[in-house]
Amino acid sequence: MLRYYNFDIVFAEIPEEVTLAINITNCPNRCVGCHSPHLQQDIGENLTTEELSGLIDKYVHDITCVCLMGGDLEPQSVQDLALHVKATYPKLKTAWYSGKSKLPENFNIHLFDYIKLGGYDASKGPLNKPTTNQRLYSIASSGEMTDITSKFWKK
Ligand code: SF4
Repeated sequence: MLRYYNFDIVFAEIPEEVTLAINITNCPNRCVGCHSPHLQQDIGENLTTEELSGLIDKYVHDITCVCLMGGDLEPQSVQDLALHVKATYPKLKTAWYSGKSKLPENFNIHLFDYIKLGGYDASKGPLNKPTTNQRLYSIASSGEMTDITSKFWKK
């Protein structure tokens, strides 16, 4: 069962979207210089589909996207939650922030509109630095992944 520490309405994590970002705990990645070490702990509330709907229902008129931040230990649960969002809130986009550099085996990217890949490397910086190792992709209905990381970089 995935659990989450907190959530926020954010404008920067997914370009051009107003995003309900949910911070999932028990992160298995051990990025050197981790910006959120508390998310490595197995703490927080169970992120059931009912809990997720409870969060979305509070903000459904204000948001355009739901982003699951983490969950690399349980990619099947991440997919299950994205499927729930797609089925219940067809107007909302779905996103996943993974700390892995590659997608899990047999991962269904059709459940997502955006996927971020890559762990945090303090020497390369976060997504808004052109030196970053992380990549944000938009996912077309065909499944084609387009790297849109440069949208984070101010001209
Ligand atoms: S993906 Fe890396 S930076 Fe993010 S919470 Fe996990 S260890 Fe920390």
